[in-house]
Amino acid sequence: MKAIVHTHAPYAVALSTLQRSNNNKVFPTTNPVANLGNFIPVFQPVGLISTPEKGMALARTLQGQNGVLLRGHGTVVVGTTLEQAVLRAIYLEFEARTQIRSRSAGEPIPYTSSESDLFKRTVAVEHAWHYYVDKFRQSVKNETLSHK
Ligand SMILES: [Zn+2]
Repeated sequence: MKAIVHTHAPYAVALSTLQRSNNNKVFPTTNPVANLGNFIPVFQPVGLISTPEKGMALARTLQGQNGVLLRGHGTVVVGTTLEQAVLRAIYLEFEARTQIRSRSAGEPIPYTSSESDLFKRTVAVEHAWHYYVDKFRQSVKNETLSHK
């Protein structure tokens, strides 16, 4: 791990606040987030990670996965590159948005560990990174044009 991304992404915050009976784990229900690991742990203590002890507790919560939800706060996602960590943060917010929507209609079907494993090896970081950079540049361009 060489990169860490912290977000306050709104759907991830919402997902982090839900009651769950499965040992504070969220299981993937979409392809993209499956590359974060077989589950997304939820760090339960509230407040800022402001001491080395809290940082170690957060690191232990990862349990070998690549992202964690901070209850009522946001996300922390790790990667071997900044690009990979940013993409994982985007994918985690996509997953959270999908689960919030799915839960309004029923109970989402989580991926099994072997289903999640399929996606760990197939994420094309460079291609996805360029897609989001282009998308961001286009949104900035559109925003600039709308203010003229
Ligand atoms: Zn924060």
